[in-house]
Amino acid sequence: MTMIKSNAEQIVTRIQQSCDKVSRDVQEVCPIIVTKNRMNEEIQEVYSLGFRHFAENRVEKLLERQKAFSQEDIVWHLIGPLQKRKVKQIVNQIQYFHAIDRLSIMEEIDKRLDSPLKCFLEVNVSGEESKHGFKTSEVFEAYEVAKQYSNIQIIGLMTMAPFEANDEAIRNYFRELKEVSKKLQSTSTLKLSMGMSQDYPIAIEEGSHFIRIGTAWFE
Ligand SMILES: *Cc1c(COP(=O)(O)O)cnc(C)c1O
Repeated sequence: MTMIKSNAEQIVTRIQQSCDKVSRDVQEVCPIIVTKNRMNEEIQEVYSLGFRHFAENRVEKLLERQKAFSQEDIVWHLIGPLQKRKVKQIVNQIQYFHAIDRLSIMEEIDKRLDSPLKCFLEVNVSGEESKHGFKTSEVFEAYEVAKQYSNIQIIGLMTMAPFEANDEAIRNYFRELKEVSKKLQSTSTLKLSMGMSQDYPIAIEEGSHFIRIGTAWFE
């Protein structure tokens, strides 16, 4: 068995275990394969195992990947920050954008889209200076502002836990994101995009719907 295949089996098992632990349906959790810095051959192998959600954090890279992988059943996610001048190149090429991180980008996204795009508001739950995203206190306004734009369909909130945080701190950040989403929408149809290679089991336990995993597939 190749390394990628055994990694994939391990990821699938851990997703199932995390769901079981908190009685969640595994169908609620979508693993996204973050392909940044990987070779096309590696990505092809993950594709051939049946996975269909792929992500890049940079516009140029995502467009390059789409040239290499033109299969129509691939679902493309952009998960990194977007500069205004690049919006028009990319927004009609993807199915999900995870990183609306400021009010000033919304108008341009809305204007350039031909049809509604599923988007997440990125929230800087930990409040680190170096991180993108709205502060938790700003999310409510951002959510209201986004409603004015018919092509921006906010389907949920995204966050990244600090790299150096311990498990308990990470869990608290994820929990906080969920609290914010509940306050935005008590019926809670909002999705959560949280969890990476190091912390996706915790994220699933705390209610994540989209886990963005890179390294764990390949190393
Ligand atoms: C790189 C990246 C990931 C995946 O990180 P891993 O630690 O490799 O799993 C997830 N989300 C974003 C926004 C990233 O840039």
